[in-house]
Amino acid sequence: GSQSRFNAIADINKAVPFETKMTDSLKKIWATDVFSMAQMEESLSKSAYKAMKKTVQTGAALPNDVADDVAAAMKDWAMAKGAKFFSHIFYPMTNATAEKHDGFIITNPEGAAITEFSGSLLIKGEPDGSSFPNGSLRMTNAARGYTAWDPTSPAYIMHTPNGAVLMIPSVFMSWTGEALDKKIPLLRSNAAMNAAAQKVLTLMGEEEIATLNSSCGAEQEYFLIDERFANARPDILLAGRTLFGASPAKGQQFDDHYFGAIPERVQVFMQDFEDKLYRLGIPAKTHHNEVAPGQFEIAPYFESANIASDHQQLLMTLMKTTAKKHGFFCLLHEKPFAGVNGSGKHVNWSVGNATQGNLLDPGSTPNDNLNFLLFCGAVIRGVHKFGPLLRAVIASASNDHRLGANEAPPAILSVYLGDQLEKVFDDIKTGALHVPKSGGLMDLGLAQILKFERDPGDRNRTSPFAFTGNRFEFRAVGSSQSVSGPLVAMNTMLADSLEWIAEKLEAQLESGKDKAAAAFAVIKELMELHSNVIFGGDGYSAEWHRMAVEERGLRNAPTTADALPALKEKEVVELFSNTGVLTPTELASRFEVYAEQYVLSVEVEAKLVIEMATTMIYPAAVKYLSSMASTGFTLEHSPATKVAAAATAMMASVEKLSAALESEHFDTTEAHMSFLAADVRALMVDIRTSADLLETLVADDLWPLPKYREMLFIK
Ligand code: ADP
Ligand code: MG
Repeated sequence: GSQSRFNAIADINKAVPFETKMTDSLKKIWATDVFSMAQMEESLSKSAYKAMKKTVQTGAALPNDVADDVAAAMKDWAMAKGAKFFSHIFYPMTNATAEKHDGFIITNPEGAAITEFSGSLLIKGEPDGSSFPNGSLRMTNAARGYTAWDPTSPAYIMHTPNGAVLMIPSVFMSWTGEALDKKIPLLRSNAAMNAAAQKVLTLMGEEEIATLNSSCGAEQEYFLIDERFANARPDILLAGRTLFGASPAKGQQFDDHYFGAIPERVQVFMQDFEDKLYRLGIPAKTHHNEVAPGQFEIAPYFESANIASDHQQLLMTLMKTTAKKHGFFCLLHEKPFAGVNGSGKHVNWSVGNATQGNLLDPGSTPNDNLNFLLFCGAVIRGVHKFGPLLRAVIASASNDHRLGANEAPPAILSVYLGDQLEKVFDDIKTGALHVPKSGGLMDLGLAQILKFERDPGDRNRTSPFAFTGNRFEFRAVGSSQSVSGPLVAMNTMLADSLEWIAEKLEAQLESGKDKAAAAFAVIKELMELHSNVIFGGDGYSAEWHRMAVEERGLRNAPTTADALPALKEKEVVELFSNTGVLTPTELASRFEVYAEQYVLSVEVEAKLVIEMATTMIYPAAVKYLSSMASTGFTLEHSPATKVAAAATAMMASVEKLSAALESEHFDTTEAHMSFLAADVRALMVDIRTSADLLETLVADDLWPLPKYREMLFIK
């Protein structure tokens, strides 16, 4: 009943502040828990270190004897830090992280404990993976999966309250080599992007081109509420969001939270959390309050996509465990509170290498400008051609509540370039900007004109996919999602576009044009085909939603049920198989896993709605009514009549929802998803509407669930 709610408030009010101490200097703690290249240089033989470095830089396979050396050095390092166990850590197709811990210990024939950690243990592990979703991949192969170290991502130590575990970032695949995780396609997508980029840069006359890599800097939004409130709300504990709750009188309409002072208790949490990140070599760079009360953001400095992706998963895990330690509950859900801003994850993405630098930076020479226009054009083409794929990889039951909700990017994929750059591309398309006949490279002065675009004040915040001066920012990604899916989609669409560009460029050059004229001709053709995806206006407006679909031919996929089937479309299947990123079987298994996750999460929520309405909210309404009746008060014109009506309406909807959940005859997964997205979700909203009305009518001291104003403002 309401007792747990009031106990929570009382407990919070008498809570003593978390004990704090000054933290150690950055220099002292930076990457101390990482088995870094510097560590390896110290502890490996010269030749082993050289082989290791080559693997990290080029992705070349690690020879077996070197693996043995690395394993031995890694074990010594970890054991000196108190580790007795090691674990391959991997990233199954859910957004979660998985581990299986094994001891270093073995016993010798005399029964004494000795330790062992060979190269083969480092490189290959066998998790009991039968419980990981695999989209029937392993069913067909009738085999278990295994994990293998990804040597391009360093091992590290995870501290527990009284020990430590050596963590080994790994891929997870079937015995027949099919990807069962989110890391394998990321590594493959990077390789595909590199191969295509090499072709374009070679045609553009570049020499000594180093391996290209994609980079990612993710801005992570989240909510913190007191843990005691979370414990009194089954919906937060089980679904990660409030399934009920009336809007508070004071919401975010005052906007006084954005960039405001961070409450001290939160500040202490952040410091503790960021120190943990630093020890793990994760470069936490900015943190601040977000738009909604109780909402915050953290953004580490960008890193290579594979590492950034591993770090992002680690960051989400640490954020939750550290919050718990500080008596907070950390919500990564995209829309934990209705009527309050949701949380996203902006994925900042660029591609580059050591020799040419960042290819999405216009640079300062005419040559750099041309390369930039080609790569930027490649991204534009990718978003136009594969917008539905980009939408599919960010589709989830939770992100559906956020996209298109007038405070988050629309569910239509378009590209924002900024006025100046948009004009450059437009002028190339119309021929207003062309290469002089005299030949030679023209200085487009892009670095100059684009300086202006980097001003954050000038950015269009309503765009789902924006150029921000030297990178693209994919803003429609959900706060709880792995960044890997979006990175795979972006790298792969870029690979496809760069292949297309290379082919066109080659033909233009063969026809006798010089590099600049050839590049301009290709960009002109590209813009004629794909400039429809460029949009600089208000992405929230109803006009854009109409225009995008009717005039531009872009797709609007408001729910996961609309978005996920894109993974089955011919163009997408071909994209992934042509680039070698995912075979048709692997891709099909992904659709199955994501669809299943959607179905499961909506069904879990729906059942919880029924249970909470029946066992918590209805009884509170009845209690209130009986207390009113016992006063002998005449019920006419009193809130009681409204309470009775709302409670009856709520239970009628509960009956309907229960019946809807019984219908289990769907010909296809798609039909099942659509039924949940339309019918089931609508009934959940009906129940909530009645319940939230009840919350505003029933006596406060009888209400069982912590209210929005309490969760969002008491800290
Ligand atoms: P804003 O809030 O203005 O978008 P932030 O500084 O909060 O910017 O976050 C921007 C993110 O983009 C950071 O993680 C930053 O390191 C990252 N970033 C900056 N340059 C690049 C780049 N070239 N490639 C990828 N990410 C980048
Ligand atoms: Mg941003």
